[in-house]
Amino acid sequence: MDKISSPRKIKEIMDKHGFRLSKSLGQNFLIDENILKKIVDIAKITGKDFIIEVGPGIGNLTQHIAEAAGFVIAIEIDKALIPILKDTLKNYSNIEIINEDILKTDLHKLIREKFQNQTVKVVANLPYYATTPIIMKFLEEKVPVESLTVMVQKEVAQRMQAKPGTKDYGTLSIAVQYYSDPNILLRVPPSVFIPRPNVESAIVKLEVLKEPEVHVQREDLFFALVKDAFGKRRKTILNALSTGDLKLDKNLLRNVLNESNIEENRRGETLTIEEYALLSNNLAKIYNNL
Ligand code: SAM
Repeated sequence: MDKISSPRKIKEIMDKHGFRLSKSLGQNFLIDENILKKIVDIAKITGKDFIIEVGPGIGNLTQHIAEAAGFVIAIEIDKALIPILKDTLKNYSNIEIINEDILKTDLHKLIREKFQNQTVKVVANLPYYATTPIIMKFLEEKVPVESLTVMVQKEVAQRMQAKPGTKDYGTLSIAVQYYSDPNILLRVPPSVFIPRPNVESAIVKLEVLKEPEVHVQREDLFFALVKDAFGKRRKTILNALSTGDLKLDKNLLRNVLNESNIEENRRGETLTIEEYALLSNNLAKIYNNL
């Protein structure tokens, strides 16, 4: 099938439909066939796979996905792109285009109705402005997703993959690593997009864990602790947690830190996910007895 990723072809399509790129919707289209192929390779798509693509744009990546996959649902927020997609993807019988904001999509309903609750793979060149909320929506809503292969800003990819004690380690690292195993697989320069973004990008694959590797009794408490600990990054864990949103009593906190074998003068950025889990479980015991 004719590919549509060359700058000349993209311009031709845009002119034909009178389409103008929207900066606020993060419309940076891929113009490099090798990168498009690479995304599909990394996602390890087979003919049996059900795929959700977020933000198909003009359908350049969608074509490659559809050629490898069983069925693709492509969700695009921009109404102006829908007639373009109907045109560029008209020769494919295994693609459904939905005009919706992915952040408002009922993913459970979508997967139940369109894929009979089968596990799906998510593949996308994500809009920079909403990378984190889109990824976290798939993870937090615990929909049956096997993996997410996504192009994101390089710094965001580094934060997702970061380990304790590094400058990139933070709430995003813990949230993403709680639900998945993230790996940066390719760095991508601005020159493969039109328009060129001001930042470098990376393709990152998140293999979703069947169960988190740590046992957490109360996820609300676990994530609230992490948020407070990183809200005051320069403070010790004792000070950060006693002055954060949870407003934990300092003496109680000392005891719980002690019980969890975590020295009170450590900084939140040095604690592992296992330590946050232990701390939140020990705190949960107290909360549950109140
Ligand atoms: N897939 C194309 C490519 O790789 O060249 C376009 C990727 S472009 C970086 C991001 C796409 O996501 C745009 O088409 C944009 O309109 C769409 N988009 C932005 N926000 C969205 C949202 N909340 N829900 C669904 N699509 C969105």
